[in-house]
Amino acid sequence: MIAPKPSVSTLKPYVPDEHQCAIKLDANEAKPFLFPQGLQFADMPLHRYPDPGTDALKKSIAAQYGVNPGNIMTGNGSSALIELVIKTFVAPGEVVISFKPSFAMFGIYSRIHGADFSEVDSEADFSFDLDKMITAVRSKRAKLVILCSPNNPTGYLIPKAELVRFLQSVDALVLVDEAYMEFADQGETLVHEIGTYTNLIVTRTFSKAFGLAGIRLGYLFANPSLVGMLGRVQEPYHLNTITQVIGCMAMSRMAEVKTYTASVRRLRQEVMVRLRDLGIKTYPSSGNFIWFETEQKDLYQKLIAKDILIRAFGGQDTCYFRVTIGDEQENNAFINALKEILS
Ligand SMILES: *Cc1c(COP(=O)(O)O)cnc(C)c1O
Repeated sequence: MIAPKPSVSTLKPYVPDEHQCAIKLDANEAKPFLFPQGLQFADMPLHRYPDPGTDALKKSIAAQYGVNPGNIMTGNGSSALIELVIKTFVAPGEVVISFKPSFAMFGIYSRIHGADFSEVDSEADFSFDLDKMITAVRSKRAKLVILCSPNNPTGYLIPKAELVRFLQSVDALVLVDEAYMEFADQGETLVHEIGTYTNLIVTRTFSKAFGLAGIRLGYLFANPSLVGMLGRVQEPYHLNTITQVIGCMAMSRMAEVKTYTASVRRLRQEVMVRLRDLGIKTYPSSGNFIWFETEQKDLYQKLIAKDILIRAFGGQDTCYFRVTIGDEQENNAFINALKEILS
């Protein structure tokens, strides 16, 4: 029998929930709204390899965010970029550190690449204590810190002022995963700090606010020196032509993205209030989802029986759940199902 390398032999795969439910509120996907218009496959040179530098796409992202194309790297989903950062900067045995709970892929990629993955617990209200993280980074001599803000699955947003203080306090490389930042209050992004902090990388994705999870497209911001190092490791032709074309199209339609995220924020507040009215403990969220707590431990299965899929956390006797904000109809169906289950 061929065995995988030791770091992989104990690894549990990331298994997406394949339950087929009519109402799918488990994966933080958006409603479809950015329909590519006038996209003609015949116009694309699909017999050629894609543009290796993804130059047109980087230019349109740069213009949108007011940075230079040299500050940007694109990837096959931001997940691939998180892995690229680990591959480029973290040697086997070096420490990657993150908060818990957070996005599962941080630990999975770290372990695949032989890193020593370490976690700092969230507070009881699922906020992050960055002083605890500073202490842990120093005592473990962490090479890479991954901070997810707004955090998946809890929705906690790290205030920008705290993140700036954190960046001033550690020498480690700091990756801030802003997959959900478009759903947060304005002015909290770290994108514009990349010129000040040479140890900062900010990742973004088209999978959530842009409603384009199916094209697999992410991007990151960092100073040109870090971007250059990542470029040595990234595989050639990493982004297919179709994705590059749709990405440029999406970047030119930011007004529609803003309208969409504003509607999700409004619906999030509605769902939050209705959950609280049902006596369910909720936590403030800056994402397109809500993290909540209930004694109804088999809620996940009972909702599936009603054709509604959400995420349950923490194994069998869990009482924490994450529900994606759907459209008005889906949210109503979810709240009504919950009412029936709880009564
Ligand atoms: C969904 C998500 C991503 C995005 O992954 P893609 O590979 O871009 O689809 C990244 N980080 C977090 C925390 C997420 O929840």
